Amino acid sequence: SSFEMSGLRPHLLENIKRSGYTKPTPIQKYAMPIILGGRDLMGCAQTGSGKTAAFLLPVINKLLASQDPPITEGNCCQPRVVIVSPTRELTIQIYEQAKKTVVAYGGVSVSYQKNHVLSGCHILVATPGRLNDFVKRGHISFASVQFFILDEADRMLDMGFLPTVEQMVNDKRSCFPQRFPEEIQHLAGKFLHNYVFVAV
Ligand code: AMP
Repeated sequence: SSFEMSGLRPHLLENIKRSGYTKPTPIQKYAMPIILGGRDLMGCAQTGSGKTAAFLLPVINKLLASQDPPITEGNCCQPRVVIVSPTRELTIQIYEQAKKTVVAYGGVSVSYQKNHVLSGCHILVATPGRLNDFVKRGHISFASVQFFILDEADRMLDMGFLPTVEQMVNDKRSCFPQRFPEEIQHLAGKFLHNYVFVAV
């Protein structure tokens, strides 16, 4: 299996090559087609497995395919992708990986990227508390969300964040816990529609 066979757009493939990724890791191999196919996903994979790229690559591919501009209405940003992660450190790591993929992407114009940065965001990565705060203040709306990703959902469960997250969830969801305890199974039943389960 290779990235070339994955159906990702050519510019994204070039970028993957430039990042030095020669072939998909197992979680990428199994999770990417599910997300690209528009299905909900429960992906069980450890840190270091390449799980961040497993959800970022198909999501960015979808964003590039539609080329829809970011939406900001008044003081309110409507991201198309919301990624919730349990800690500030993990949030920054996900942001850095997403930025690397988007910024180095050669196929879109500079003005597109400038607008992209200035007039809102396509992808929002946030910790649950801050996200909830912004939503409550009306600065972020989920009206245009296409993908809702809970990274390390099991850690968020342990940290007591799930009630906050539960209040916010909407539309297409992917869940990436490292373990699959009973509470996570409940979560899947509640949040995900007819989801595919992948564990590596
Ligand atoms: P993660 O499991 O998301 O924390 O990723 C662990 C590390 O693996 C990150 O530094 C990624 O840049 C790197 N990585 C992700 N996918 C691949 C791949 N297909 N080949 C090589 N390295 C990768």
